Amino acid sequence: MILILKSGVDEAEIEPIRRLLTGQNIIMQDIVGETTRMIGLAGDTSSISEDAVMCFPCVERIMRIQEPYKLAGRKFHPADSMYEISGRRIGAGEFAVIAGPCSVESEEQILSVARDVKASGASFLRGGAFKPRTSPYAFRGLGLDGLELLRLARQKTGLPIVTEIMSQEYLDAFAEHVDVIQIGARNMQNFALLQQVGSIGKPVLLKRGLSSTLEELLMAAEYIMAGGSQEVILCERGIRTFETATRNTLDLSAIPVLRQRTHLPVVIDPSHATGYWHLVEPMALAAVAAGADGLIIEVHNHPEAALCDGAQSITPQVFHRLMRKADAVRAAIR
Ligand code: PEP
Ligand code: MN
Repeated sequence: MILILKSGVDEAEIEPIRRLLTGQNIIMQDIVGETTRMIGLAGDTSSISEDAVMCFPCVERIMRIQEPYKLAGRKFHPADSMYEISGRRIGAGEFAVIAGPCSVESEEQILSVARDVKASGASFLRGGAFKPRTSPYAFRGLGLDGLELLRLARQKTGLPIVTEIMSQEYLDAFAEHVDVIQIGARNMQNFALLQQVGSIGKPVLLKRGLSSTLEELLMAAEYIMAGGSQEVILCERGIRTFETATRNTLDLSAIPVLRQRTHLPVVIDPSHATGYWHLVEPMALAAVAAGADGLIIEVHNHPEAALCDGAQSITPQVFHRLMRKADAVRAAIR
C-alpha cells in the first residue's frame, strides 16, 4: 500500500499517521521525491482502514498494490481451479456446457429439453424454478414443484442440475437437491445470501451483476468463498450499456481479464447477454475462441410458447449445431 501525501506537508503533520501504524507490524518506508512525498507500507496491510487513513488531512490518496480478493485471486492460488461436480468437470482446460430452458414449465418440457441437450453433449441441465422477474405479474417459476421436476430430469438423464436461489428460505431444499447453486445477476451483491449459500459448501455459479465491475464480481465470489464454498464458477452474462440493439452488451474481454486475476473458471451466457436467439451461436463461438471454460445457454423445445425468455432461447436443433461448431473452434485454438 502506498500513501500519497499532499505537497508541502511537514513531519509534524505526518506524525499522527506514524503513531496509528506503529505497533501494527507494518514496515513504513518514506519515499521523498522533488515534488511528491509518499509512504510505502509493507507487511499485512489488510487490517489498515483506508477510511481511517483518509481522515488525516496530509493524505491525498491511497494506492493498494495487492488485490482485496485473497481467496479468489491468483496470488495465493496460481493454478487454474478445476472442479469435478457429480461426475462432470469444469475449469483448467475442462470445458463444460450448461443448457436448458430459462424456466422449468412442465414435466414434458424439462424432460424433453434435458434429453435433447444431453444427446448434443451438454454436461449440466439448467432451469429456473424461482425466477427473478421485473414485473410481479410475470411468470415467476414453479417454485418447489419446479425443483422436483429438475430432480426428475436428473434422475432420467443423469445430468447434474444448475438452478437459481432467490432467498435463504429455500437453502435446505437447494442443499439437498441442487448440484450447482446459481446466484443471479440481480443478487450478485446480496451479501447475506452469498455468505449463506457459501456456508452450504456446494458449487456456486455466480453471475455478474447488471452494472457490476469485474472487481465487484470477484469480491462477491470472495464472500461465497469466505463463507465456506471453494467451488465458485464466474459467469459473464452481459452488462448494461447505452446500446439498445441487444438486451445487454456481452463483455468478452471479461474472459482474459478474469483469467489473469483469478483461478476460478469463467463461463459465458450469450442468451441473457444478447436477448435474441440468432445472436446466441456467434457470441457463444466467440466466447469459446476467447478462452471461456464453458457456456450457459437457454434451450427450449418450443421457444414461441416459452413462459420466459423465448426470444433468446434456441431450439435443440440449433443447440446441436452450436455444439458441433464449438467443438471445431476448440480444436482450432488448441
Ligand atoms: C437466468 O440465468 O435464468 C437469469 C435470470 O439470468 P441473469 O441473472 O443473468 O439475468
Ligand atoms: Mn432467462
